[in-house]
Amino acid sequence: MIESPLLTKLTGYIGGRWTDNAEGNTFDVYNPATGAVIAQVASMSEQEVTAAVEAGKSALRLTNPYSIETRRKWLEDIRDALKEHREEIGRILCLEHGKPLQEAQGEVDYAAGFFDYCSTHIQALDAHTIPEKPKNCTWTVHYRPVGVTGLITPWNFPIGMIAKKLSAALAAGCPSVIKPASETPLTMIALFSLMDQHTDLPDGMVNLVMGKASVIGKVLCESPDVPMLSFTGSTEVGRKLVLDTAEQVKKLALELGGNAPFIVFDDADLDAAADNLIANKFRGGGQTCVCANRIFVHEKVADAFGDKLAERVNKMTVGDGINGDVDIGPLINKAGFDKVKRHLEDALEKGAKLVAGKQPGELGEGLFFPPTVITEVTRDMCCYREETFGPLVPMALFRTEDEVIEAGNDTEFGLASYVFTGDAERAQRVAAGLRFGHCGWNTGTGPTPEAPFGGMKASGIGREGGLEGLFEFVEPQTVPRGF
Ligand code: ADP
Repeated sequence: MIESPLLTKLTGYIGGRWTDNAEGNTFDVYNPATGAVIAQVASMSEQEVTAAVEAGKSALRLTNPYSIETRRKWLEDIRDALKEHREEIGRILCLEHGKPLQEAQGEVDYAAGFFDYCSTHIQALDAHTIPEKPKNCTWTVHYRPVGVTGLITPWNFPIGMIAKKLSAALAAGCPSVIKPASETPLTMIALFSLMDQHTDLPDGMVNLVMGKASVIGKVLCESPDVPMLSFTGSTEVGRKLVLDTAEQVKKLALELGGNAPFIVFDDADLDAAADNLIANKFRGGGQTCVCANRIFVHEKVADAFGDKLAERVNKMTVGDGINGDVDIGPLINKAGFDKVKRHLEDALEKGAKLVAGKQPGELGEGLFFPPTVITEVTRDMCCYREETFGPLVPMALFRTEDEVIEAGNDTEFGLASYVFTGDAERAQRVAAGLRFGHCGWNTGTGPTPEAPFGGMKASGIGREGGLEGLFEFVEPQTVPRGF
């Protein structure tokens, strides 16, 4: 069982108090590297989730709002607490998610960056009076908190994803009811320990509920006291939330699946492209929504690029992330592992060639999937059509710019994309043609707290990060004054 000073409680947190499930129901949390159960965490009932919403309602202040200074201080305190406890939070994160320890601790720094950004830019949410005086009135725009928000996060960035949402919600003055993924609730509990000990957030401003998604989701979707949900996860669940909140016309911020194209032209710096692809693709073991999922390589450089990838991939190590010196940890669970294996088998059966890695029959026990590169991938293959969410690099060849823009867009998703070329004009054309919310030019980097990030098409609604993200949790209210 996991031991940590930040995990002395393994329960929800409602109205400023650690709250157990009344019947003592729990669920197990596993270490994916060993398969061992590392904690049993309280599973909340409908009544408890409803109590969390009530607590949020009691913390919402409309007529006497929390000042900008107060909100900035909350954000700064959380940022400072995360920085101070980065090693321990990273260790907890590593043990329940599996990503290498240094990467896990890097995620804590990334999370702190969102609280820092929002605290630095919170003044943008202050009311302002517009310079014109139409209709003989003075027009003031106020940014009101949306209200109590439901924040639902996935397991792939246990601290990063909540940081994006919570920083903007607190900046706006919105209380929240937070539901982490059941694979990774411990990092969230640790964050709540920090908020409990190191901030003076009002009771009910942040509430933690864990357990069955169907129970928690139902309350958050049906309660008229929750006017907004911010969700990161699968497109399938995102669609369900759209349907389940339609009746009340709730405000939704959705960050859903991706199917990122990574395009390498024949004039690209192939070493830089290969290095960036490795860093991008194998972060979190390939389990991020911005991981390159379809690698389009110009046919003239396909062999050379494949060789560079193989050379790098063959040096990578896979193992228990807590050991500190591995590049890739285990996949999150058996379903995740089986999906990557199915994509590899399907591609090889349909004619793809293995460039690096193992044949499906040679994969060992446990959830450790070796980094794998395949080429001659075609549109009918699962790895091309679906998000693989694992360390499989599928290369497809192309000839022309128009052809590769069309192929890149041949997906319902529109989250991240990447283009590698030495030709600036071509990069501009390709970026403009790709219907993706993020398009890296000669970089495989993903989001950063300072810039907006989010999806087009079925990849979502709204943005996180940047000023755009800061404005997600406010309702502009316009007050024209006659006299
Ligand atoms: P993933 O495949 O990354 O696990 P999911 O969309 O299944 O993505 O889950 C993302 C988050 O959404 C998790 O916290 C999960 O428990 C939660 N979730 C799943 N189904 C629902 C639902 N019907 N209502 C609310 N939250 C849900």
